[in-house]
Amino acid sequence: MFRINENYLKLSAGYLFPEIARRVATYAQEHPQLAPRIIRCGIGDVTEPLPPAAAEAMHKGVDDLTKHATFRGYPPAAGYDFVRSAIAQGDFRSRGCDIADDEIFLSDGSKPDASALLEILAVGNRIAITDPVYPVYADTNVMAGNSGGQLEGGGYEGFTYLPCTPANHFSPALPSGAVDIIYLCSPNNPTGVVLDRAALTRWVKYAREHGALILFDAAYEAFIREDGIPHSIYEIEGATACAIEFRSFSKVGGFTGVRSGYTVVPKSLEGSTIDGKRVPLHGLWMRRWTTCSNGVSWPVQCATAALYSPQGRQQTRALTDFYLANAQILSAACERLGLATFGAANSPYVWMTCPSGLGSWETFDLLLREAQVVTTPGAGFGKCGEGFIRISAFNSRANVEEVARRLSVLAAAVGR
Ligand SMILES: *Cc1c(COP(=O)(O)O)cnc(C)c1O
Repeated sequence: MFRINENYLKLSAGYLFPEIARRVATYAQEHPQLAPRIIRCGIGDVTEPLPPAAAEAMHKGVDDLTKHATFRGYPPAAGYDFVRSAIAQGDFRSRGCDIADDEIFLSDGSKPDASALLEILAVGNRIAITDPVYPVYADTNVMAGNSGGQLEGGGYEGFTYLPCTPANHFSPALPSGAVDIIYLCSPNNPTGVVLDRAALTRWVKYAREHGALILFDAAYEAFIREDGIPHSIYEIEGATACAIEFRSFSKVGGFTGVRSGYTVVPKSLEGSTIDGKRVPLHGLWMRRWTTCSNGVSWPVQCATAALYSPQGRQQTRALTDFYLANAQILSAACERLGLATFGAANSPYVWMTCPSGLGSWETFDLLLREAQVVTTPGAGFGKCGEGFIRISAFNSRANVEEVARRLSVLAAAVGR
């Protein structure tokens, strides 16, 4: 009989969000009168409508497809030149990063990119991920065969976990041993904390010394407000020789349902064959892209480019400001209860310390039961996430204000 990819059997049973959905559904079923009160601040999905500039461009893109004169079929696999150019100029060269238009690969989002990227890397690379971590980095590597089985108490055999805790300000220390691939995410999901220039400089130096590859996820870059915090790994000298950057329009443009993102693969970035020959990753990624994808739809490419117009920029700024203000409201509510929080300043996530004596799933259940508020238990992101919950600021202002009030149910648990 044909065989399956058994690496899938190593995955922990419940991906975090299905487990949350299950608990919420059970609660709603058992308490039908309270179900309409449920407010979801769990999964990191946007709630506000598209920036008008993007919507208009998408409409126009659809109209183009209805006329012979402007009809378009298959797009170039890595995106139209005008889109790649708007990105390279708007996100990189304007910040002093030396990134060429053809080093940008437009895609239908960062999650598919992060998983597809493993196709051009060998199986057996030693993987370093932070703890807590965006589960996609871990799970895609398990599926690809870069881990052993599950460890008792969480995590997978074979991965190097980099603890992120209040003690190190959620900025992971360099690994003691050698690793080949390092996943970094700043501003971070789930902690909401940013990595500063000194930290990123240490990582680039490590990667260059050890021949390692940094996979830098900057999905939340547009939320950075603090001066001096790098928006791109390429703001660090030497990074074009050791790093790939993932970007997404999901959070900055409200594109979670539109689907658009991109990967930056610098031409100077090289990996090694088993016998030590150096090979540029750019050509491999281009090959993977032309063979396995037919690119992103014309209306979506139009909408993506529109985010870089003056109006588009103004509108995405207003959108990210809105979510950041939500994050401040939520974080202030936690602090008033005496619960220390992290994140929020440069990200749409509040990483709240659980009331003492309560675990993260207990806090999750308490908030669901007593306040009908859905959060994400930190333990779902890794062992070091225990003792925290993530509250997402992606919601309407009215809902956020209501959640801020309802968080007071935690007052009893903190003894206030
Ligand atoms: C939301 C998010 C993304 C974006 O994924 P898309 O597939 O582009 O929607 C990427 N990385 C992290 C850490 C995220 O939270």
